Amino acid sequence: MRHTPHNDTTTPTTRHHDQSSKPKRTTLSYGPICAQQTRRIANAHAARWNFLLTSSDGTLVEASTKSYTPTAAIEHITRLRHTTCVFPHCQMPSERCDLDHGLAFHKGGPTSVANLAPLCRRHHNAKTHGHWDLHRNEDTIHWTSNRTGHHYDTTETRYQPTPTTG
Ligand SMILES: [Zn+2]
Repeated sequence: MRHTPHNDTTTPTTRHHDQSSKPKRTTLSYGPICAQQTRRIANAHAARWNFLLTSSDGTLVEASTKSYTPTAAIEHITRLRHTTCVFPHCQMPSERCDLDHGLAFHKGGPTSVANLAPLCRRHHNAKTHGHWDLHRNEDTIHWTSNRTGHHYDTTETRYQPTPTTG
């Protein structure tokens, strides 16, 4: 059985260009590996990259992959960020929606949490056929009708804290 290299490598950006062979990088699956091993894995023919951007305290900020199809983790996070279709006023649950690349993959749109959003089939087709354009600005999605010029904004799901009872 052939093993595909796992590239869940976390590398501090300040050491990104470090050429030493000291063990400084880690993978979730194998533990610390040296720079030479990291380069060998990165350049392997079947290597697949998944990017995880974290804040300084380790909180996940963004996740992406080089492939068209999102990883299970990216899909899960995207559906948590948007619990319904992101078209204005549509309430189709995200589990029943397609995941749409806001900026098309073939135009350089990444397969990332920031660029993916659930669209029900009807609204996905409306976007695909050019009836609507969307533009994302952080957590807001700006929709523009190409027929009427009307604008609408939608945002990601806001989770309300559960009130505590004493
Ligand atoms: Zn919809």
